[in-house]
Amino acid sequence: MPAVQLNNIKKCYGALCVLDGINLSVEPRDVVAVIGQSGSGKSTMLRCINGLEQIQGGSIDIVGHRIEPGTHSLRSLRKEVGMVFQSYNLFPHLNVAENIMLAPRVVKNVPKQEAWETAQMVLKQVGLADKVGAYPDELSGGQQQRVAIARSLAMKPKVMLFDEVTSALDPQLTGEVLKTIAELAAAGMTMILVTHEMGFARQVANRTVFMYKGQIWEEGRSEDLFAAPKTPELRSFIAPNL
Ligand code: ADP
Ligand code: MG
Repeated sequence: MPAVQLNNIKKCYGALCVLDGINLSVEPRDVVAVIGQSGSGKSTMLRCINGLEQIQGGSIDIVGHRIEPGTHSLRSLRKEVGMVFQSYNLFPHLNVAENIMLAPRVVKNVPKQEAWETAQMVLKQVGLADKVGAYPDELSGGQQQRVAIARSLAMKPKVMLFDEVTSALDPQLTGEVLKTIAELAAAGMTMILVTHEMGFARQVANRTVFMYKGQIWEEGRSEDLFAAPKTPELRSFIAPNL
C-alpha cells in the first residue's frame, strides 16, 4: 500500500487552480524529488499533502488518513507527517534540546525523560549530539536547519516533507544539510522533497517529479528523467544544470 497517494487533486484560489489534477503515488521508503519553476505549485502540493491547505477536488490518502474537499486541518495527521521549511523557526529562547522536546511533550504528552532520550537520539542522527545545550543563535544556519530536521524527527513521523530546506543557505552549509537528508533517505525514511539542487535530486531521490503550471508534467526514475527528459519544458528547465 502506498504511503502517500494523490488522486486527481485540485487546489484552487478562487478561479485560479494552482494544482490542476495531480496524481502521485509514493511507496514506503521512496524518496521523491519535486522540481519545477517558481510558481509551478510545488509548495502548495506539499501543504495539501500535510493537510495545511484544503483541496477542491480529488483526494489524498496518507498513512491511513484520507483528505478530501471539506476535510479540515488534521491534527492527528500532522503528528505523523514531518515538514521542514526553508526558514527553520527555532525558538530563540529555548536551547536545542528544549526546541526538540517541545512538540513531543505538548502535542503527544511524551514523558520528559523519554522526550530527552529521543532528543539525544535525533541529534545524533543529524550529527549534532554535542549541541544539545546550545541556543539557536550560537549555531550556523546549516546547524539550525539540521536541528529543525531533528525536531521534526523527534515526532517519529512516517513521512517527511522538505520544502527547499537549503535555499537560504550558502553552498558550504547546503552540503551538510543535504548530507543529513541523504542519510535519512539511506535509513529508509519515506520522503518528498522540493529542491533546486538537481545533482542532489538525481543522486538521492529514486524518483523525480517535474511540475509545470500546476501539473505533473513528467515523472520517472531520477536517473532516467535527468538523462533523457521527454518534454521540451523539462529539457529547458534542467538544461542550465547539465
Ligand atoms: P512553488 O512552490 O512551485 O514556487 P507555489 O505552490 O508557492 O509554487 O505557488 C503556486 C501558485 O499558487 C503561484 O502562482 C502562487 O502565486 C499561487 N498561490 C500560492 N499561495 C496562494 C494563496 N494563498 N493565494 C493565492 N494564490 C496563491
Ligand atoms: Mg515553493
